[in-house]
Amino acid sequence: MTESLLKPGFGAPVEGSAHAAPVVVAIDGPAGSGKSSVSKATAARLGYGFLDTGAAYRALAWHALEHGVDTSDATAVLEVFGDFDYAISLDTTDRWVRVGTVDVTSAIREPRVTDAVSGVARVASVRHAVNELFRRLVASAALPGVVVEGRDITTVVFPGAAVRILLTAAPEVRAARRSAELTDQDAAKVAAALHKRDAADSTVVDFLTAAEGVEVVDSTHLDFEQTVDAVLSVVENTMGARDGR
Ligand code: C5P
Repeated sequence: MTESLLKPGFGAPVEGSAHAAPVVVAIDGPAGSGKSSVSKATAARLGYGFLDTGAAYRALAWHALEHGVDTSDATAVLEVFGDFDYAISLDTTDRWVRVGTVDVTSAIREPRVTDAVSGVARVASVRHAVNELFRRLVASAALPGVVVEGRDITTVVFPGAAVRILLTAAPEVRAARRSAELTDQDAAKVAAALHKRDAADSTVVDFLTAAEGVEVVDSTHLDFEQTVDAVLSVVENTMGARDGR
């Protein structure tokens, strides 16, 4: 990762910033739970920013593949992490992800990246550095709040977030949703890849059971709008209770 992203003070309030720290709504969940689109819609409805943390791991996997690195080799991943120059937009209406000067917004969704991402996400020092980057991105955002979604946001990245939600759905529903998104691919293969990635990821962080104080929203029987409404109700109730409303 470049110097600019690793300077001291990561995660601390930005010196001289006039704005209050944004409210954090932390949303975790497995692949296909609808986490990303639901989090983005929730952020838009609240007038908040949106941080997709999986994009950082995907961008690093893309960067490693560009360098011809085997992402199951932690030492090689760490080597390419040294010059990983990452940037992401928190704007719900103008989404982009960049590595250096390359816009990788679409490239990081390619199956070859999805297949490689769990390897880079397993490297502890990578996780530590990107978590600090996430905290710094949020702390320096001139926004009333940020919805941050991932696998370990409620437990590791922002355990003190104002609102913490685990978004779940039955495995077969998640697989069906993911294959509906990837219409050009075989449904059985998509389901197998999703379960394989969940299995690999769950050896690193537990995103299938809610930690204490984390609210579960199960979207198995909900459509997209109903899920956004369910998440917004948790936000409303939690913030209301916090503010004594
Ligand atoms: O959310 P998404 O599917 O884009 O995440 C891509 C990958 O990034 C996950 O499969 C997981 O390996 C990793 N990830 C993670 N911790 C997060 C977010 C994503 O390990 N907070």
